[in-house]
Amino acid sequence: MGVANERSIAWGIAKACHDHGAEMAFTFQGEALERRVRPLASSIGAKIILPCDVTDAKSIDASFAEIEKQWGELDFVVHAIAFSNKDELRGRYLDTTPENFALTMNVSCYSLTAVAQRAVPLMKNGGSLLTLTYYGAERVIPHYNVMGVAKAALEASVRYLAADLGEQKIRVNAISAGPIKTLAFAGINDGRYILKWNELNSPLKRNITQEEVGNSALYLLSDLGTGMTGEVMHVDGGYHVVGMIKTSSAKQ
Ligand code: NAD
Repeated sequence: MGVANERSIAWGIAKACHDHGAEMAFTFQGEALERRVRPLASSIGAKIILPCDVTDAKSIDASFAEIEKQWGELDFVVHAIAFSNKDELRGRYLDTTPENFALTMNVSCYSLTAVAQRAVPLMKNGGSLLTLTYYGAERVIPHYNVMGVAKAALEASVRYLAADLGEQKIRVNAISAGPIKTLAFAGINDGRYILKWNELNSPLKRNITQEEVGNSALYLLSDLGTGMTGEVMHVDGGYHVVGMIKTSSAKQ
């Protein structure tokens, strides 16, 4: 859930899973994106390609009902969905409106729980749920604003869902990805500066790729990761461990 085009993080994950033998269904949000998603999904042999808007409970119901009809069960779900009004992804968090706060929380946070409610009954032999988050949940990133607050709640949801579902052998994890140029990323003010900052200051001294997120996701979604749940795994070139940026006087 969450492929918009070939740059989407969800598509990077889908490619890695496909390379390792997964059979997948795809959802798309609205007709405009259908034109992008359908050919991509078909290119890796997907047969189930469904509309799903997570703000509409009936739409989520219909997607999972179709998956149940066709497959009867499900091993994993990737939730790579977020939205906020881009006028509020600039300037101050202080200026967040109640309408956009509710919308951002609904689409970017609550939808994971809504999806889990429908996916869990299909995970008859256990399963894995994965969502995508960002460092702006943990620390203040300029302009990330209400999305940072929603991601913090999303990361907490991962922990609560993991506790609820562990006995059913269903694991719930998140990948905290470093910045990648995608459609959603384009909505954040000063994105180019964020990318440059990460490139210059992360331990690996570069930005990460969609493929790298895909490979890490594969680990969490598959039986390689059966010991992990409730985890927020950083795939960010190590940026989250940096406490202070090296200046010339700090270098030896
Ligand atoms: P993207 O634009 O390719 O994907 C975002 C997806 O959310 C789109 O497919 C869009 O259709 C979907 N979406 C939005 N509102 C929806 C709704 N109401 N119903 C159903 N789907 C809806 O961008 P992306 O960067 O690949 O984003 C995927 C996830 O990764 C998001 O949760 C994002 O916050 C997260 N993330 C992105 C970055 C980054 O730098 N790109 C970094 C860390 C985390």
